[in-house]
Amino acid sequence: MKILIMSDMEGVSGIVTWSQVDADGAGYAEGRRLYTEEINAAVRGARAAGATEVVVVDCHGAGGDRSFNSLDPELLDPGCDWVAHHPWSRYTELLEDGCDACLLVGMHARAGTPDGVMCHTISTTRWRNLWFNDDLVGEVGINAALCGHYGVPCVLVTGDEATARESTALLGPGLTTVSVKRGLSRYSARNIPPVRARQMIEDGAKASLADLSKVKPYVPADPVTITIEVDTVDKVPHFRGRPGVEVVEPLKVASRADTWMQAWDQVWGW
Ligand SMILES: [Zn+2]
Repeated sequence: MKILIMSDMEGVSGIVTWSQVDADGAGYAEGRRLYTEEINAAVRGARAAGATEVVVVDCHGAGGDRSFNSLDPELLDPGCDWVAHHPWSRYTELLEDGCDACLLVGMHARAGTPDGVMCHTISTTRWRNLWFNDDLVGEVGINAALCGHYGVPCVLVTGDEATARESTALLGPGLTTVSVKRGLSRYSARNIPPVRARQMIEDGAKASLADLSKVKPYVPADPVTITIEVDTVDKVPHFRGRPGVEVVEPLKVASRADTWMQAWDQVWGW
């Protein structure tokens, strides 16, 4: 069994501020350690479920050379390989090779979620809202659609309670979720201590891989319309002149194509 783990930092137990996830932040060393140990828990769970190949993709943009490069190599479980410093949400090698399932670890809720700790939808873009057809999605939805394009289901999502709620609504009740904290605001949370959170993630990863048919790959129905609502009008010209892309409202652009991947390629070119 081949397992892909796509991971982010904001959904890790104990992480509640940007200083813990930004490369130049005072709390970054602590954040990296907390992050790496939650990944290790998912790797142990996947191995216990019978995974023979586990590839971890660091999907957190910490800034500069540290973007997608925040895992601490010395601490990483030897039972995985990991992808560092690859462009965001573009690593498809394992998906193309034939991967059985994806685990999303350390995820955060979409922009505008009141109880979503550090909620956002792609930090570099400051998108206010993103829809795949009629589904309002965040980064869980983007990663699930990327996997879905290759017929791979995302069977586990870990993060805060808001992320679990958002993910179950999108991917269905067969999804295994592990909530390691409950957001009290965007920058505070009631946390489950890391030692216990890691055990929950290990158990959740193992359980999620017991029956891969419980979650269908997420494939938005074709033809696909991707709608992006940006936060300010100066972001709109960036989208003009792109094939298949139309400005539909002062702050909204729509990308239309036969497949999700094509519609995504038309707007995701950073
Ligand atoms: Zn992140």
